Amino acid sequence: MIKLFNSFSSDKDNFEPFKKNLVRVFICGPTLYDYTHLGHARIFLTYDLLCRHLNERGYATDVLVNMTDINQNVFNKARTESKDYAFIARFYANKFAEDLLLLNIKSINRLAYASDYVCHIENHISNLLDQKVAYYANGNVYLDTSNIKTYGMLSKQSKDQLQLHRLDMGPNKKNPEDIMLWNCSEDFEFSWPSKFGKGIPWWHIQDTTVALENFGINYDIHGGARELLYPHHEAHLAQYNMLSTCENPIKIWMHVGLVLSNDEKMSKSIGNVVWSRDLVQKYGQNLLRLYLFSRHYRDDVNFTESQIAEKKPFLNKIYLTNTMTSNKTDPSLSKLLDEFLVALDDDLNSPKALEIFENMCSKVIEGKSLSSYDFERICQVLGIEI
Ligand SMILES: [Zn+2]
Repeated sequence: MIKLFNSFSSDKDNFEPFKKNLVRVFICGPTLYDYTHLGHARIFLTYDLLCRHLNERGYATDVLVNMTDINQNVFNKARTESKDYAFIARFYANKFAEDLLLLNIKSINRLAYASDYVCHIENHISNLLDQKVAYYANGNVYLDTSNIKTYGMLSKQSKDQLQLHRLDMGPNKKNPEDIMLWNCSEDFEFSWPSKFGKGIPWWHIQDTTVALENFGINYDIHGGARELLYPHHEAHLAQYNMLSTCENPIKIWMHVGLVLSNDEKMSKSIGNVVWSRDLVQKYGQNLLRLYLFSRHYRDDVNFTESQIAEKKPFLNKIYLTNTMTSNKTDPSLSKLLDEFLVALDDDLNSPKALEIFENMCSKVIEGKSLSSYDFERICQVLGIEI
């Protein structure tokens, strides 16, 4: 039985998808104005490992990533580079696809531009207005969170705590914690026409709409960085609850820890951003995977380049093992292979799985037999290319 830590239950839940042999995953994707940094790469590599393991366990996977192209940063980039906004969004979408290929991430089968869904967003906001869980305030449209009993349950916040946040403020907003759905401000140099007037579909409803239009009333896993838990995922869940006919439309909320660089969050203003394509070019994606998977996905990682290089002896051992495989597996190694898979069943415990794999490689080098079939199965799960 696969167990995954669910941020909603704060516990490791037994995982059973809605559809018997198919797991549908939504990952909050990039904002299209820059390349993929190591923190983003870790997120997509984590879900790639999860999907590869699910495939090994007999599940098919269907993975959707939304790409945020309705965003001030995209427009700022277009302005500073004197380029068309759509050109910038398409350019970085292509770079994102290239970065996924460089990282050997093959599990993502659907990429969606938020801007392709604006008419659907309009329909969903109308639905929320009809249900009277959304309201107009000075031309903007907000989600009235006071009507949603479960609001705060994902981020574990009481009503009092939620009210301390002052989100998306504007005149006539009913509750400080209410979520913006449509922003009619004329401060932006871009807008879409709608029945609510010219404006911008706000961030959270973009993702909710992309997920609803692709997966329908429910799906199995929602993934992303832990920092998205509030308000983004709380808002997404509230909107999904109101728009879906399903009581618990998302089974598992799975959050990945941060990658820090010199003890600080990666940011261009600090100048400590590490681009994943640079690391792949320097070390190769195999080594990057061994490095990242040697930490549990929920833990924060404080990145230094020397930690990647430390994994070279292990990778060399894997390459050597590849030259020493045979056509059968010794029972002692079959047992270790089972333990490798069981470690991944346990909330994707990749540090333990890698320890077991390294032990298997040592035993092969000492003369125990491992079939090339079993060796390739392990490499397939880890995404290691031989
Ligand atoms: Zn999102």
